[in-house]
Amino acid sequence: MSESRTIISRDNAKPPFFVGIDLGGQSIKIGIVDDNAQTIDYTTVDTFPKDKNGNLIPVKDPAADAMKRTSDAIYSGLRRAGLHSSDVVRVGLVTPGTQDIPAGKLVDPANLPGWENFCIRDELSECSKFPVSYDNDANAAAFGERWMGSGKGYDNMILLTLGTGLGCGIIINGNTYIGQNSHGGECGHNIVDPSDNARICNCGQRGHLEAYASATGLARRIYECLLTKISTSLKDSFKKRYGKEDKNFNVNTFIENMDAETKAHLPKMLYEEALTGDAFSIEMIEATAKWLGIGIVTLMHTLDPHCVLIGGAMTFGGKGDRIGEMFLQRVRKEINARAYKILSDRLVLEFASLGGDAGYLGAAGVARSDYKHGN
Ligand SMILES: [Zn+2]
Repeated sequence: MSESRTIISRDNAKPPFFVGIDLGGQSIKIGIVDDNAQTIDYTTVDTFPKDKNGNLIPVKDPAADAMKRTSDAIYSGLRRAGLHSSDVVRVGLVTPGTQDIPAGKLVDPANLPGWENFCIRDELSECSKFPVSYDNDANAAAFGERWMGSGKGYDNMILLTLGTGLGCGIIINGNTYIGQNSHGGECGHNIVDPSDNARICNCGQRGHLEAYASATGLARRIYECLLTKISTSLKDSFKKRYGKEDKNFNVNTFIENMDAETKAHLPKMLYEEALTGDAFSIEMIEATAKWLGIGIVTLMHTLDPHCVLIGGAMTFGGKGDRIGEMFLQRVRKEINARAYKILSDRLVLEFASLGGDAGYLGAAGVARSDYKHGN
């Protein structure tokens, strides 16, 4: 969706308008959205300011500086779209954790050094002069999918985003589920393998779903295959791209230093080798699907969702693709084998459809929901 985003004109839009802001470690996505989830204007700003050569510009208070630049970008967007500030009734802001969502506060966000205990909601509200709703980015992505993506019409649904980690957004009775400590939906850390030699998760614990169904987990598994005598074109593909020789290669260093491009590329590499018919690559995709299915069954028996969506970098071609559909069918097979029949019979299992736009659209949707409910 991100590449094919449709921007509609103000004349075709339905007021009132909302601003959706999706704040990540690299960039801040800002969309002005109408009452029908149509985007009127879209822009991004760097989370940390950079000069024109891409070098970071040191600032005294990076969080407050980012909110000031975000606020300026909102007003620039309003001017481009031909809107007045009074046309916007509410702003939705979503960020990664850890957070205290009711307090509007970031607590200890891993990818935002210097932003600890920052009262982000009120700071943005003060800068921009708009009322601001605040939520988690994974929840917002689920909310966006429910508003105008694959989850449309499902009041009880879950979005699993398979990327560097495994993100989970939960919608219960049409609302995002936050939990008591703003840690609801951390299902990437649900245990799928309790054995002593289970894989190590990004959080340091063993056996969590994220260790089996994320790009970092995948990097470890590809590395392990390099050390074996297994015959697979994946080995050649990996070495060609990253130029590593087995004995000099340290997987932990490699994973720690993986940039965003590498993280996005690894699942793509696996997908491309699977497309050529490489048996080991296909097996690895099937194994990912199996673990993911096991993780989903736990969620089904806990929350009884109507719909589960799978999105992110690890969808292996996604909807309509031969490998993508095989992946989804393998997840489905695992669910059918392990879940209560009534739940597996009625579950809608599908790929997410909004891509990287789900966050800002969902943020606007959360703001809209608060506005309609008079919050
Ligand atoms: Zn974990």
